[in-house]
Amino acid sequence: MMELAGHCFHCQKEVFCMNGFFQGEVSDSGETLCFICAEKKEKESNDETASNSEDGINLR
Ligand SMILES: [Zn+2]
Repeated sequence: MMELAGHCFHCQKEVFCMNGFFQGEVSDSGETLCFICAEKKEKESNDETASNSEDGINLR
């Protein structure tokens, strides 16, 4: 069984609930996120020094 639970706050992708398991995450602020965006967000919050790079392209 698969139910549409909502849309990802970041990429607008449909997030489903499958057999009672939510196929995504809800952030502290109540945003529904797909797994991909939730994973990305987790990585970003783990790397606090990246918080000031929003207007730049990271050149390596
Ligand atoms: Zn997403």
